[in-house]
Amino acid sequence: MADPFPPAEHDHGACVRAALDRAAAICAERGVKLTELRRRVLELVLDRHAPVGAYDILQRLAEERGRVAPPTVYRALDFLVSQGLVHRIDSRNAFVGCSRADGTHRACFLLCRDCGAIAEVVDPDLDAAVQALARRAGFEVDRQIVELEGRCAACRAGEAAA
Ligand SMILES: [Zn+2]
Ligand SMILES: [Zn+2]
Ligand SMILES: [Zn+2]
Repeated sequence: MADPFPPAEHDHGACVRAALDRAAAICAERGVKLTELRRRVLELVLDRHAPVGAYDILQRLAEERGRVAPPTVYRALDFLVSQGLVHRIDSRNAFVGCSRADGTHRACFLLCRDCGAIAEVVDPDLDAAVQALARRAGFEVDRQIVELEGRCAACRAGEAAA
């Protein structure tokens, strides 16, 4: 598999614009509203290729528009998660923008503890293995989140060079 992490040097503005356009198209297709606030919350989640906490989003919004009621932000995040536009990263109690947002995939996340970056990978083989494991255990899965923590290829290469 190719390195799923975004290259250090890339046009992140274009990256965010593409994700926002995709989100707008998905919401239009489903007949749900990507309100101005939901869109801005999504944009703040997409700001970095790293997990972003709800509190950080709240802070940023408060700087922009004065006091913002926390439930407003939590509701916007819930909406984005329910539409598959954003994933919740349980281990960090944080959120990350979905790299595909087709709403049907079960993602696996790679979290780099050195640079803090996160990458989303979707692997049908892993998925099948997890589903089979649950079936064997007679277990019905509601939510599947696979998080791998470690170091990304770039960080490992940097260390090797140093
Ligand atoms: Zn980017
Ligand atoms: Zn995803
Ligand atoms: Zn890294």
